[in-house]
Amino acid sequence: MQAKLPGMTTSKFVPVAVLPDDPEGDDSWLFSRGGQVLLVDDMTTGMRPLTTDEAKQLTDHIAKPLVLGRFENETAHWWTGQVSDEFDPFDAPFPGLVFSDLRRLLGTLDPAIWNVAGRATQITDWYRDHQMCGRCGAQMEMDPNERSMKCPVDGLVSYPRLSPAVIMLVEHPDGRALLATNVAWRGPKPMYSTLAGFVEPGESLEDCVHREVMEEVGVSVDNVRYFDSQPWPFPNSLMLGFFATYVSGDITPAPDEIADAQWFSRDDLPNIPPRASIARALIDDWLSRS
Ligand SMILES: [Zn+2]
Repeated sequence: MQAKLPGMTTSKFVPVAVLPDDPEGDDSWLFSRGGQVLLVDDMTTGMRPLTTDEAKQLTDHIAKPLVLGRFENETAHWWTGQVSDEFDPFDAPFPGLVFSDLRRLLGTLDPAIWNVAGRATQITDWYRDHQMCGRCGAQMEMDPNERSMKCPVDGLVSYPRLSPAVIMLVEHPDGRALLATNVAWRGPKPMYSTLAGFVEPGESLEDCVHREVMEEVGVSVDNVRYFDSQPWPFPNSLMLGFFATYVSGDITPAPDEIADAQWFSRDDLPNIPPRASIARALIDDWLSRS
């Protein structure tokens, strides 16, 4: 499934929260439900977002349309909206509609479009889950000037929330890398990947790298270097990638989390994550330095 999307672009996406006057004919729509996005499986172009004309035919099945933004070199906007639980794509007035899992689309959609799709699932979930004030229970109102929901009674403001996570490749001074397999990953040939974990409130990213490596495999590291980041909408994370250098300790996997962890050399690699993931980008960068 190689996606060929209209307006495919690698330019920057400019998020907007304020509704344009009206959807235009050349706008694109990525409706969402339960972490999936609604796409059209087009016989000639492959998977693509809905056109405005198609989106209008589904109005009865969509909660409030929410604008996501536009690519900086384009005028057309991208939109999303929550699809009702009852809606069945087979009942649509036009053919080809499919719900597609974001994880499966990783590496098949253009990365810029995939990030917009991840934004779509997160914004629709956030809007659905913040209709009522978490403090007093009153009906929240959407702020007309920014992406937030506000309580008219006590002023509580809710913004879409991200959960930052660090993901790190630990390098041994002898050239090997520490890769681990998670207890949740089953299969005849388990996948070995970099370590990762969520940042705690009040913790720096560097402190989190030290803590997670110690918690998961019992070794200490230093020389923590930032590498790159990747939005990770499962459900609302942001992956911040690092390299770190091993200092001391014997590998001791955390029993409830890590099934196995080992030092691997470049010429003896296990099954590693697919391309398009930041875990793989970390491993590929390390491999390129042989
Ligand atoms: Zn309130």
